[in-house]
Amino acid sequence: MKTEGTAEGIERFSSAGKGRGLRALTHYKVGDLLFTCPAYTYVLTVSERGNHCEFCFARKEGLSKCGKCKQAFYCNVDCQRGDWPMHKLECSSMCIFKENWDPSETVRLTARIIAKQKTQMEKTASEKLLTVIEFESHLEKLDNEKRELIQSDIAALHHFYAKHLEYPDNAALVVLFAQVNCNGFTIEDEELSHLGSAVFPDVALMNHSCCPNVIVTYKGTLAEVRAVQEINAGDEVFTSYIDLLYPTDDRNDRLKDSYFFNCDCKECATKGKDKAKMETRKMNEPPKPETIRDMVKYARNVIEEFRRAKHYKTPSDLLEICELSLDKMGDAFEDTNVYMLHMMYQAMGVCLYMQDWEGALRYGEKIIKPYSKHYPPYSLNVASMWLKLGRLYIGLEKKSLGVKALKKAIAIMEVAHGKDHHYIAEIKKELEDH
Ligand SMILES: [Zn+2]
Ligand SMILES: [Zn+2]
Ligand SMILES: [Zn+2]
Repeated sequence: MKTEGTAEGIERFSSAGKGRGLRALTHYKVGDLLFTCPAYTYVLTVSERGNHCEFCFARKEGLSKCGKCKQAFYCNVDCQRGDWPMHKLECSSMCIFKENWDPSETVRLTARIIAKQKTQMEKTASEKLLTVIEFESHLEKLDNEKRELIQSDIAALHHFYAKHLEYPDNAALVVLFAQVNCNGFTIEDEELSHLGSAVFPDVALMNHSCCPNVIVTYKGTLAEVRAVQEINAGDEVFTSYIDLLYPTDDRNDRLKDSYFFNCDCKECATKGKDKAKMETRKMNEPPKPETIRDMVKYARNVIEEFRRAKHYKTPSDLLEICELSLDKMGDAFEDTNVYMLHMMYQAMGVCLYMQDWEGALRYGEKIIKPYSKHYPPYSLNVASMWLKLGRLYIGLEKKSLGVKALKKAIAIMEVAHGKDHHYIAEIKKELEDH
C-alpha cells in the first residue's frame, strides 16, 4: 500500500481490492471532523427554488429573484453575482423554452461541470486528494439500458445548453455522464428532503461500507465529514453510498447496479441484521421460504412502482398504493420488517405533503423504534425521523413528547453535523419557543 497524497490527518492510498481510498493518519473519536470539501460545482433542485438561495443554499424567506428569468432566487446582489457564471447557462434558455424547459438534474449538474472545466484550469480546493478528471467511470461495465439513458441525457444537454457550452465530443460526454452517475452527490436538508446535486471530489475518494465510520453532512454547499465510530491511525475511512435500511442481498443489488461492486464489509459478511430486518409474522408454522421469497420480490416491485408513480399520481392514489401493499405484505411480514417500514415511510411522506399531520404521526410512531434498531447508532435517517416526529408532536400540542423527540434528534446530529451546526441552533430555538 503506497501513499499518494495527504491533507492533514488523512491520506489517499491504494486500498487492497478496492482501488484508491482514504486512510486516517491520526486518531479520531466519535464526532470529530476529518475534513471538509467545498462543492466543485452544484445545482439547487427545481422544486426548492424560492426556498433556498441558488448560490449559497441558505434557507430563508424574502429572497430576491433574477429579474430576467424570475426563476432563480438569491440572498442579495453578491450571491446573484457569484452565481451568474453558472446561472447564465440556464437563465436565457429558461426564458426561451418556458414550460418545456425540463433537463434532468444530472444534465444540469453536468452542464455546470463542463462550464467549470472551461474556466478553471488549476486544481480546486475541492480536489486536494482526488480530481474530477480522475473520477472512475466504469464505462466498460455499462449495459445498453444505461448507455441509452446517457445518450438521452446528452441529447437534453445539446437541446437546452447549446447557446453557452462548447461540448466535448460524444465519447467524452459518455465518460463524463458515467463519472457523474457514480461520483455525484445529492444534498439533503436536516429532514432528508432533497435540496440539490453536487460534485465533491475529495469526498468521492472514500470507499463504501455498510458499517461506515464517517457520515457526510452539508453546511450550505460545503460537505463535512465526521467520525461516527472510533477511527485509529492507519484505518481506512468508509462512508455509506446507500440507504442502509435494507437486508444484505438488497443492499448489494443496489451497490452493483449503481456503483458496480459487491460489498465485503463486516455486516455483509455476517448478515448480522438480516433476520431482524426480514422479521416474518409469528404463526402456527413459520412461512415457507418461497412465500417469503415471493413477498420480497413483490415488495421490491412495489417500491419501484411507487418511485415511478410519485412523478404523476395524485397523493390519494399514492397513499392507496402504500396501504394496499402494506396490507398484502402484512400477511407474511411483521410491522418491523424493512419492506413494511419502507412503505410506511413513503405513506408518511405523502401525509406530510397533504398536511395530514395526524396521519403522518401515526406512521412515524410505528417507524421510529424499528428504524433505530436497523440503522447504525448514528444515522441521519434516524435523526431526521426523530426530528419530523418532534415537529409533528409540537405542532399537535403534544409538547413533552415533542421535546423528547427533538432531543433525540439533537443527540445524533451533534455527532453527525457537529455541535455548532445551524440546524441544531434552529432546533434548540424550537425547543425554547415551546
Ligand atoms: Zn445566498
Ligand atoms: Zn435568471
Ligand atoms: Zn456491506
